[in-house]
Amino acid sequence: MQTNVKLIKKETVANGTMAFHFSKPEGFKFRAGQFADYTLINPPETDAEGNTRGFSLVQAPFEPDLVAATRMRDTAFKRVLKDLPIGTELKLDAPYGDFTLHNTQTTPAVFIIGGIGVTPVRCMIAQATHDRTAHQITLLHASRTPEDLPLKADLERLARDNPNFTYVMTVESAPNGWQGERGRVDAAMVKRHVADLHKPIYYLSGPEGMVKAMRTLLVELKVNEDNIRTEEFTGY
Ligand SMILES: Cc1cc2nc3c(=O)[nH]c(=O)nc-3n(C[C@H](O)[C@H](O)[C@H](O)COP(=O)(O)OP(=O)(O)OC[C@H]3O[C@@H](n4cnc5c(N)ncnc54)[C@H](O)[C@@H]3O)c2cc1C
Repeated sequence: MQTNVKLIKKETVANGTMAFHFSKPEGFKFRAGQFADYTLINPPETDAEGNTRGFSLVQAPFEPDLVAATRMRDTAFKRVLKDLPIGTELKLDAPYGDFTLHNTQTTPAVFIIGGIGVTPVRCMIAQATHDRTAHQITLLHASRTPEDLPLKADLERLARDNPNFTYVMTVESAPNGWQGERGRVDAAMVKRHVADLHKPIYYLSGPEGMVKAMRTLLVELKVNEDNIRTEEFTGY
């Protein structure tokens, strides 16, 4: 669908990370995990990358808004986006992609995610929680500090609401008393949280470097590559 959408809300969802809520167009249908292309209309500045970016849809189909969450780097697109007045229209072209949760509920899902790559994952988990599916879901979510983990509070709420969902955070530095894991995701950490390495379907999303590193780790653990699904966020 190609249409205009209105900005209705902006919020901070981690250090240097914002979520932008847009009105959902009448009749807009998508599957949890898909993404949308947003185009700024007559922005006050632009650069070589142009006025369009693709962002995964953070809110699930059952929820009211279209939401994009992103690291607010110092690029023309993001400077303009950050300062857009509420009510501004953007062009939307969506939905795209097939990074969606598998149907077979007896097959567990394991998400191994760096930072902002969690956006489509939050969407899939929110929809599975709403639909009360039986998928056993584990999310290993890595970032530098607890404050850098995008959508942390929201994911903690989903873990409380969904007994089948386990949220494991891992950070490189945290204050004393931190309950989560520490350090980068490695083979030992995956083994600690995944009972049978050969049963789940694995999902990797985010900046290309993280996705590639996690694929290599899973292959080293002898995970069948047919059971690894990825979404690479270009531009990081
Ligand atoms: C399917 C899909 C889904 C995506 N979903 C999301 C999402 O949910 N959230 C999200 O944030 N992104 C998502 N992305 C990526 C998104 O489309 C942008 O490419 C990304 O946010 C970077 O945009 P930008 O304006 O910061 O950088 P751009 O202006 O696009 O930068 C382009 C280039 O400039 C360089 N650059 C710019 N700024 C910096 C900097 N501060 N440090 C280092 N290098 C820099 C980089 O080398 C980069 O390659 C997705 C991409 C795809 C393909």
